[in-house]
This record gives sequence, C-alpha cells and structure tokens, in this order.
Amino acid sequence: MSRPWNFSAGPAALPEVVLQEISSEMLDWHGKGISVMEMSHRSDEFYEICNEAEYNLRELLSISEDYSVLFMQGGGIGQNAILPMNLIAGKNNSNKADFIITGYWSNLSYKEAKRYGDIHIAASNNAYSKIDNKEQKPWTWIPDERNWNLRKDASYLHICSNETIDGVEFSKIPNLSNFGLLDTTLVMDASSNFLSVSLEMNKLGAVFATAQKNAGSAGVTIVIVRKDLIGKALPICPSVFDYLNVSVNHSCYNTPPTFSIYVSGLIFKWIKKSGGIKFMEINNKVKSSLIYDYIDSTSFYENYVCKSVRSRMNIPFFLKNHSLNKIFLEKAKLEGLIQLKGHKSVGGIRASLYNAMQLEGVQALVTYMKDFERLYG
Ligand SMILES: *Cc1c(COP(=O)(O)O)cnc(C)c1O
Repeated sequence: MSRPWNFSAGPAALPEVVLQEISSEMLDWHGKGISVMEMSHRSDEFYEICNEAEYNLRELLSISEDYSVLFMQGGGIGQNAILPMNLIAGKNNSNKADFIITGYWSNLSYKEAKRYGDIHIAASNNAYSKIDNKEQKPWTWIPDERNWNLRKDASYLHICSNETIDGVEFSKIPNLSNFGLLDTTLVMDASSNFLSVSLEMNKLGAVFATAQKNAGSAGVTIVIVRKDLIGKALPICPSVFDYLNVSVNHSCYNTPPTFSIYVSGLIFKWIKKSGGIKFMEINNKVKSSLIYDYIDSTSFYENYVCKSVRSRMNIPFFLKNHSLNKIFLEKAKLEGLIQLKGHKSVGGIRASLYNAMQLEGVQALVTYMKDFERLYG
C-alpha cells in the first residue's frame, strides 16, 4: 500500500519510519512484554522514555539548564489560559501582558488572556497596510517592530511565531532590547513551526507548542520556560497547570499523556538522525520555495501574504477563479494529495509542509498544480 501525501495542518503527517517503529514496539516495548500505553508513569521504563525525550529536545534546541522543559496537557488553546495564569503576575504583580496580533491564533490567545489580567494590543495586522508599495490585506503582514506600542510594566509580550491559518511567520524572533525593554519577557506560541527552525532561546522567556503539528501526536503540549519565571502562578491556577508543580515533578505531577510523550520522543530522535534542526530549516526553506516560486510565476494561483513573512510551514493559496477550488481539491485527492482544504475562516487551499513532508511530496503537489493549470487555465 502506498500512502498518500498528507498536507494536513494538524494533526499532521508523521514520518513513516516513526510510525513503523511505533508499530513494531506496540505490543512489546524493548522486551518488557507490554505496550508503552500500559506502563505506570512512575515506572523506570517510562521515566527513561520521558527523560530521553527531554534530553534529546534540549540537545536539538540547545536549551540550557536555565529553562524547564514541561510535557503538559490541554493543547495550545489550554496554554492560552495556563500561560497567563503562570506568568502574568511576573513583573511586580502587575497582571499586565502585551500582545502582537498577527492572525487567528494570536488573536485567540489575546481573547483568552483577557480573563486573567490587563491585556493590551501592542500592534495588530487586522488592517490594510502599504508595504514595499504593495497594499496588503488584513492578516497578511506583520507590524513593523518600530511601531509596537509596548508597556514597560507588562509582565510579558506574547507573539505567535507562525500563524497556522493565515500563513504568516516571523522571519526572526524580535529582540526586545531594541526597545530598551531588557527585562520584558517574550513568550511565544510556536505550535506550528516548532522544530522547523532553530530557536534563539536567549530571547525567550517561554515557548509552547502543541505536538500534533510538528512534534508528535495530539495530547501533549511542550512548554519551555525560564526557571526564574516559575513560581508566581495566580491563586486560581489549577495545581495541575502550575508550571512549578509540573516542573518539580518532572512532568509527572499527575499522569501525563504517556503515549504522546513517547511519540514525541521518537520524533526528536528522528530529527537528530535526519541531520538536526539545521537540516530541517534548510529543507523547509527549499520545500516552501518550490510552491511560492510556482505561485509567483503564474496568475492562476494567488497567495496574499507579504513576501518577507510568508510561512514555510503553512501555505494558504487560492485559485484566482475561486469556483475551481472545489474541483482542485477533489482531483488532488484522486492523485493521492490529501487534506489540502483551506481553513474554514480563510477558504481556498492550504498546503502544510511540516518536517515530515518530504521534498518528493511537495514536488508531486507542484506537478499537480501545473497540470491543473494546463487543463483549467
Ligand atoms: C493548532 C494550534 C493551536 C491549538 O492547539 P490545540 O492543541 O488544538 O489546542 C494553537 N496555536 C497554534 C499556532 C496552532 O497552530
């Protein structure tokens, strides 16, 4: 059986070799006679799985001992509440946080955070903007750092490194010291580009990523947080979501999503074996350029995102004749190119090219796009 090329935005394709490894260990993990799913989270075996996952993740992203690595539940949306509850009191109990809105996900994070403190939009792309003499639609660009209206007493500034739905990605992590805000903590929802690119941890106070995009299967959320920020959770924070509790108990304060942690651990090992984050970074650039270059070469397809901030992970695009979107998707499926439907809030097509998507799959998509244009253009 040949597997289709899966362009899902998440839960997304996993590397076939990792699926095979899971399959071969399903009934009997490392000769123990039982599945990972059947192990106590307090057992030596699971401790080894969890520890090794953390070790490999630290190595991949060069995470120092100044940071805790937590495996939590609740997903990215859970962190929209969990993170404010843990960090918003950070600066002199100000209960203030600033947000940069760049699309659907940062906007959702902002709305949730408002339940926990005084939240301020420091900049937003929900407006038209003229960039490089081109009129950009709302949600298709990133506000210039020089125009961010940051508050000195905010406990942190929230950004979303890659907007999964809008296809907008920060090309680099902003440096808050440029604003004279040396002690402001930058926090980042990296759910959809985590492990696709190296992370400048020294610029970040906290990063979270839900696993089912680029780091494993649904059920676990990875949180990397600077240790000195931990321990100031609001009294209303459930103990199971208190970063301090999770940290001192090595992610086993309560039963963690053991199987999902195991899958993430296999993904980390697979990335190491494949050449590390640097390889992924280069490969993702090559893969996404194949699609963008083709879209730019024709007027049959369109992508509205400002070129300098186009996502390497999620590429939303349209057929100029919108009535062809449906037939494009139907025929793609017959060619073994699946889950290309755009998010309902944007419409059109969306190709997600996470680490597990091979160059060959992207080439197959571009060939299909060309053939389709020849037939319907
Ligand atoms: C998918 C996604 C989320 C939501 O994750 P859940 O696991 O569904 O809660 C949050 N932020 C971003 C950027 C995402 O891509």
